[in-house]
Amino acid sequence: MNAELKDDLRRFLHWGPINLLTLTLIVTWTVVHMNSMWWAPGQSLGSVLNYTLIWAHTFGTLYHFIRSLMVGPGFVPLKWYPSVITDTLFLQFCTRCDGYKAPRSHHCRRCDRCVLKMDHHCPWINTCVGWSNQDSFVYFLLFFLSASIQGGIIIICAVVQGIQKRWWIRQGLRHMATVHLTPTNLMACVFSLGVIMGSALASIKLLYMQMKAILKNQTEIESWIVRKAVFRRTAYPGNRIKAFVFPYNLGWRANVCEAFLSAGDGISWPVLPECNEYSLTCEQLQQKKDKRARTRLFRCTRPATGHWVPIFSQGLWVSLQIPCTDDPRIALEPNDIMHVTRIQEYWLYGERVISKDDVERSRRRQGAIRGWFPSCCAVEMCEDCASEDYGAGGEPERKQDAPDKESREPDQEKSGKETITNRKILGNFPCEDGQHRKRLLVE
Ligand SMILES: [Zn+2]
Ligand SMILES: [Zn+2]
Repeated sequence: MNAELKDDLRRFLHWGPINLLTLTLIVTWTVVHMNSMWWAPGQSLGSVLNYTLIWAHTFGTLYHFIRSLMVGPGFVPLKWYPSVITDTLFLQFCTRCDGYKAPRSHHCRRCDRCVLKMDHHCPWINTCVGWSNQDSFVYFLLFFLSASIQGGIIIICAVVQGIQKRWWIRQGLRHMATVHLTPTNLMACVFSLGVIMGSALASIKLLYMQMKAILKNQTEIESWIVRKAVFRRTAYPGNRIKAFVFPYNLGWRANVCEAFLSAGDGISWPVLPECNEYSLTCEQLQQKKDKRARTRLFRCTRPATGHWVPIFSQGLWVSLQIPCTDDPRIALEPNDIMHVTRIQEYWLYGERVISKDDVERSRRRQGAIRGWFPSCCAVEMCEDCASEDYGAGGEPERKQDAPDKESREPDQEKSGKETITNRKILGNFPCEDGQHRKRLLVE
């Protein structure tokens, strides 16, 4: 079996596609069965059209679902770098893919690859929505929503007619009393109606988000980057940074054409005249630089298991305070160093620093290197003691900061090398949302 076929099979064998296909099968069976009693095909031209529409919806939904799953979002080739080598200064490096991240691409930890124009990871298709499958995904949602509306109307009409069966007979209109409700088909109708209503609401929301993303040519992740870009410029009035212009919004007509018609390669994108192809990646690099300035160093003193509910290793109280996100939990060993960027009273979020020792021994530990861990497993180290023995895990240290083509800002990096010491946290921790979280005391 070749690797591509294996990959497609692996994507299918997941709770998302399996559940979606099973539910589609049950709902379709219910709709066809009820329709055959309520408005049997062959009675009139309308009934034939209605019956044809049921199958057109079913096949359209399945075709675009399978297509968006099998085509996939498009991945940046492993070990990719730009054709002009100096352009690497404007790009982020991905250690997982061992290559540079092309403009608009992001690393998806579930796909474990850098995804071209990544929008989001969809569990129902068990892959990301990105450059090459966004159009199929939108068609799938449209067919799905339309099929849900038709299916819902058929089931409701059939059930109502079934309930009124005796009344129709009493009125002498036996030809209207065609729907026979049984416990089985009634249960199937109630179940299918629940599925239809839930999935229709979900598809309306997803369709709205996708259409907004297409009309503005701005993925969900890029919207987040733009919000941070605005925040960077307004939160610190002292910063004289040039206003950020999102480079890919070429007007809604051009954006729609780009999403549904343009071939392209998923790596180079047309941009506004006042921008360049690295405007967004330069802004991302600056945001990373700001984030590094806010980062605190922690050293692990007790092992962390990486379990979602570490009730046996950390106790009930820590387990009850788990962060409400689907970010990974990471396993740590004593003396691991962490770059912590988010803090809660009982949990910290950070990235494990890969030590020189790990690199030399080419040791790669299982599991994520970025995620949540219990705060009682680590103590904070001196802020400025960025040791020479460690390099950041997510991105290689640059000898010089990437030159920014469009903006200037005061250097926020701090210099100085001190020895690593544990200490108490003396101030409140500034979080990403600009608020100060409750102070954490550690020895
Ligand atoms: Zn990657
Ligand atoms: Zn993904």
